[in-house]
Amino acid sequence: MVKVSILGASGTIGTNVAFSLAKEDIIDEIVMYSRPSSHEKVQGEVLDMYDALSADDVDITLTATSDISEIAFSSVVLITSGIPRKKGMSRLDLAIPNAKIVKEYAEAVAKYAPDSVILIVTNPVDVMTTVALEASGFDKKRVIGLGNHLDSLRLKTILARHFHINSGEIHTRVIGEHGDHMVPLLSSTTIGGLLLKYFVESSDLDISNLVNQLKNAGATIISRKGATQYGPSYAISNLIITIINDSRKILTVSTYLEGEVEGVYDVSLGVPVILCKNGIQDIIPVKMDKTERLEFFEAARQVKKVTKGVRQSLKNN
Ligand code: NAP
Repeated sequence: MVKVSILGASGTIGTNVAFSLAKEDIIDEIVMYSRPSSHEKVQGEVLDMYDALSADDVDITLTATSDISEIAFSSVVLITSGIPRKKGMSRLDLAIPNAKIVKEYAEAVAKYAPDSVILIVTNPVDVMTTVALEASGFDKKRVIGLGNHLDSLRLKTILARHFHINSGEIHTRVIGEHGDHMVPLLSSTTIGGLLLKYFVESSDLDISNLVNQLKNAGATIISRKGATQYGPSYAISNLIITIINDSRKILTVSTYLEGEVEGVYDVSLGVPVILCKNGIQDIIPVKMDKTERLEFFEAARQVKKVTKGVRQSLKNN
């Protein structure tokens, strides 16, 4: 029996992930946990989803609940609860209030679903990955965060649209912080197996413009429609399906580093990993050029600083 639980199920991401996962027809039960104040809304979402899913004859149980013990025996628990970014806010502005929520839920996951993989979405996601790791006491292979996988999909889209090429031809990756200090690995990006630099030489692609567009992709959507929705939800579904199917794809997730990439340690950052049913099978020690390496170190410095403040604040409360 394959069971996935979503905490913060009444939210934009929670609801959309539930539906995109349910449509795949590979999960037996999705537990949609919410605070009691949102329970009725989640019940409504479930009824609406059942109507849609019957069009494809999907056989699934969607459980709306405010009883967290119902997450027991989940393969994956998604933590998406928290205060989202509003127009003009940085992801780091959310760190202290969201850390309290993530800590409480990670402790509950350790109690009720001790064999699960925890997937963190709550921002600032790299900091929250460390918070969840420390609060759950899980092996670090079983606590991952979504961030740079979404950024990598965004970079792929920007390049595909610029060059009018099917996005399947583009292999690219963004690592580091899911935020201003993300590091697009342009030096190793390929299009149809050829390095991006060959395409740049004969095109009008402005790299600094591309990087700005990438870094502001989330904020641009939030300023226009109030929240990001389809992009993160599909990126999360990708990660969960890879875990459930034990597909061992190389995807970029936030993970607590202990020197595996460029010697960076005691901070969670996005790096490529082989993802399997137990979470992370291996971290891939990526190769970077000199500028990318310096940017990666700066991402580590910035995220470490916020993580330190959050750890202190959780200790004082
Ligand atoms: P949202 O629609 O506001 O939903 C957030 C949910 O969090 C709420 O529906 C609520 O769920 C729960 N919540 C809110 N305040 C809470 C509190 N004080 N205590 C416990 N639970 C609380 O936000 P969203 O757009 O889904 O985004 C959710 C999070 O994901 C945000 O932190 C956002 O910044 C982040 N995000 C991350 C990425 C990424 O790539 N990592 C992408 C997009 C969004 P219930 O009432 O159902 O419990």
